[in-house]
Amino acid sequence: MSPRAARGAGADAAAIAPSPAALYARLYKRYGNLRWWPAKSPYEVMVGAVLTQNTAWRNVEKAVARFADRLSPQFVEAAREADLAEIIRPAGFFNQKAAYLKTLTAWFARYAYSVSAVQAAPLPKLRAELLALRGIGKETADSILLYAFEFPVFVIDAYTLRLLSRLTASAVPFRYDEAQAFFAAGLDASLYNNAHAVIVANAKDHCRAKPSCAGCPLADMCGTGRAADVKGVERYSRRRGTPRKKPEYGSDH
Ligand code: SF4
Repeated sequence: MSPRAARGAGADAAAIAPSPAALYARLYKRYGNLRWWPAKSPYEVMVGAVLTQNTAWRNVEKAVARFADRLSPQFVEAAREADLAEIIRPAGFFNQKAAYLKTLTAWFARYAYSVSAVQAAPLPKLRAELLALRGIGKETADSILLYAFEFPVFVIDAYTLRLLSRLTASAVPFRYDEAQAFFAAGLDASLYNNAHAVIVANAKDHCRAKPSCAGCPLADMCGTGRAADVKGVERYSRRRGTPRKKPEYGSDH
């Protein structure tokens, strides 16, 4: 059954090839251990997860740098929201994000700003609490749970959804929960941290808005990459006047 047919028939994402483990192995070979999340403390991860919404990471770095050595939940709790907004201005949507940071910090206060206290709570309860906060969607909540508190939660973002659609050459957009279940079912939880990081790295190097499939480590296991390759061979064949020939691919998909 084709990936498209499998999805249309209501099969879950695990029914579509390649496997998450095969994907990760390829990406790890290219990008290695990227040691995410780039932050000095779990609280800085929480702040970064909010600030990165709808903006580039370099703007988050600029905003975080403006805290200097003051970035702590105690500082954010005590700061006036307007002052906080001014500090995080480079991250964009700064008034909204200041309010979100206040709310998120108030949630952390329920656990006495203790990472171990959060880690002692049940994951479903924490996720539900985070998702109930203003400005915290699934991607932000899961980023906080994985990267700040080391819970086994796979983070899905727009890059991951785009990658899955292209791998399966599916016209049906993947949903967050569907994509998350796909990775959770096929990847060891200890790899979730780096797996998300290498997917993002490949999205920046190759799987951009306009994909650059030549040299992509996933090209031979990707429906879109294979189609691009076939088109390239056909263009080459037409130029040369040689018979059209489909390229052969590896067996790890
Ligand atoms: S082969 Fe192309 S479409 Fe497929 S993952 Fe790589 S860059 Fe994206």
